[in-house]
Amino acid sequence: MENGLSQAAAVVEDGRPPVSCVICQGTTIKTQEVEEAFGLNRDIIMVPVKTRVCAECGERYYDKRTLRLLEEVEEKVRRKAITQLEVVGKVMRVPREHVR
Ligand SMILES: [Zn+2]
Repeated sequence: MENGLSQAAAVVEDGRPPVSCVICQGTTIKTQEVEEAFGLNRDIIMVPVKTRVCAECGERYYDKRTLRLLEEVEEKVRRKAITQLEVVGKVMRVPREHVR
């Protein structure tokens, strides 16, 4: 899995909310909690973070402060400065005999 943001996201200047969405031109962009993810060996680490999201299409807008915060959290997890991770799901695999 790629490191960094789990989906393409627009980066905006600090403190300057977009007036309309660059994808759909929607004008309803609200701050809400989303989850970003990064890969760690074979695991996926979810990071809850508040950012601006287009109510129409779901495009996420990150300012530089939030991007730095995400990078810092990822770095802390990688060097085990954050260790109390909550398990929120399982990864399972279909047995090979079913995929022939
Ligand atoms: Zn949009």
